[in-house]
Amino acid sequence: MTATIRNPSVVIIGAGMTGILMTIKLRNAGITDIVVLEKKESVGGTWRENTYPGAACDVPSHMYTYSFEPNPNWSHFFARGPEIRKYFEHVANKYHVKRDIRFNEAVTDAHYDEGKWTVKSSKGNTYHADFVVCATGILHHPKFPDIQGIENFKGKMFHTAQWDHSVNIDKNTKVGVIGTGSTAAQAIPELINTGADVSIFQRTPQWLMNLPDFRFSDAMKSLMTTFPIISKIHRNTGKFFLEHVFTKAVTGHFFQKHFLQFMCKANLRLSIKDKILREKLRPDYQVGCKRVIINSTFYKGIQKENAHLITDAIECITETGIQTKDGKHHDLDVLVLSTGFNPFNFMRPMNLTGRNNLHIDKAWDKKIKAYRSMMLPDYPNFFLMLGPNTPIGNFSVIAMSEVQGDYVVKMIDKWRNNEFDEFEAKPEAIDEFNAYVKKGLKGTSWVGGCQSWYLDPDGDPILWPYTWGRWVKEMQEPQMQHINTQSFEHTHSKHAV
Ligand code: NAP
Repeated sequence: MTATIRNPSVVIIGAGMTGILMTIKLRNAGITDIVVLEKKESVGGTWRENTYPGAACDVPSHMYTYSFEPNPNWSHFFARGPEIRKYFEHVANKYHVKRDIRFNEAVTDAHYDEGKWTVKSSKGNTYHADFVVCATGILHHPKFPDIQGIENFKGKMFHTAQWDHSVNIDKNTKVGVIGTGSTAAQAIPELINTGADVSIFQRTPQWLMNLPDFRFSDAMKSLMTTFPIISKIHRNTGKFFLEHVFTKAVTGHFFQKHFLQFMCKANLRLSIKDKILREKLRPDYQVGCKRVIINSTFYKGIQKENAHLITDAIECITETGIQTKDGKHHDLDVLVLSTGFNPFNFMRPMNLTGRNNLHIDKAWDKKIKAYRSMMLPDYPNFFLMLGPNTPIGNFSVIAMSEVQGDYVVKMIDKWRNNEFDEFEAKPEAIDEFNAYVKKGLKGTSWVGGCQSWYLDPDGDPILWPYTWGRWVKEMQEPQMQHINTQSFEHTHSKHAV
């Protein structure tokens, strides 16, 4: 008997790490009608945008790699931004992903009606699709600080995610950096190394963990090329550490939590010689409450003569620098805003409307939530990748996307096999899922007395509070009792195989 399966049309939004992955996964599953809409001119997402000096990944490089495309040529234990971008270019080329990408074409509208998504783009094109996969990432809307007088600054000013490489910074430059998060911790030492006079405006200190970063020798790289098992061992070691030490530490496991605390406190004690500076850098909240910064350069840099840590609150920004509340004026030529991102702008600014014209702003006016981080009622046949409550605080986002990608393929396969035409999460399933997540959040470090980008407007962390293993297990198979499905009279084309 000939099985009849359908070949769906899929629009993927974004050609970053997840968009590339989804194109490959869908193709491997036999789906050929794919359009990837990418707002910029190249692939790479966050690694294309973030070109600030010192940009690197704080997840071990062999773990920050697609499982199906190991890279024996990573230069360091923690890969640098430009080579990560090159890796995504390589994968996109090798797997002919670019064939399906429409570059410089941003999605302006996506609307669902009667089994079809209508997607409109900035180029005026309209696409009709059975499924939309939103792979737009989490941290891609730079957050600019609301500081009085910011518009008056006459020097050069830019956000770290929009680094202005035309600005020359050398020993004659006075640079100010606002912020001391993961990004700043990487960029500041590079600025200090230029010899510039660098003033760091710290509002809240952060916990830093020093994991040794090292260069892979050419001999090691060729060994890894000949024996891929070696990069696999690197990958599995990183995975073991993240899964069984780091993730468990921030989700409340006693031994790991104390181990992480010890590592961060010892790092501060052993790295910073001057007692006054050390106390300025000591956070007063639990280790792991904000994302622990994995870094081996910041503490060294900040002790150099041309670095100044300023902990007095900022009063205002003037034409020539920053005025702090202690009355001092700090003259600056360049002001770098390392002030993070708006993490709750998932999918925006596109005009996304589900059934009955339900706008995403309305759907989320009370709470940003999704069933299993990916699905929303009234947004049928739609997947949000790396949505709220994905384990983003703890693990490699590539590994997360791979798990979610398999889930997407399984759901689409059900459609292809004519099990339904339309699916969406049940509203009560989202509430149950949220209650389940919320229960676990109580014991985590993220509610440990700090302000961070992890917290939604209600103060609830948008993270996964249980183990990585549990998340993977629960994502193995779609639990159809939580999902509404519907079948129409078939209007879709069918392809016999
Ligand atoms: P962030 O962690 O949100 O840090 C923003 C910094 O800006 C904080 O120090 C914050 O102070 C400060 N700030 C914000 N508004 C301010 C204001 N009005 N006045 C004074 N200070 C202000 O942002 P990020 O450093 O860009 O990192 C965001 C995330 O990106 C990280 O957590 C991580 O997930 C990701 N990232 C990853 C890597 C990697 O290696 N994989 C590298 C970089 C970034 P408060 O703490 O007081 O709010």
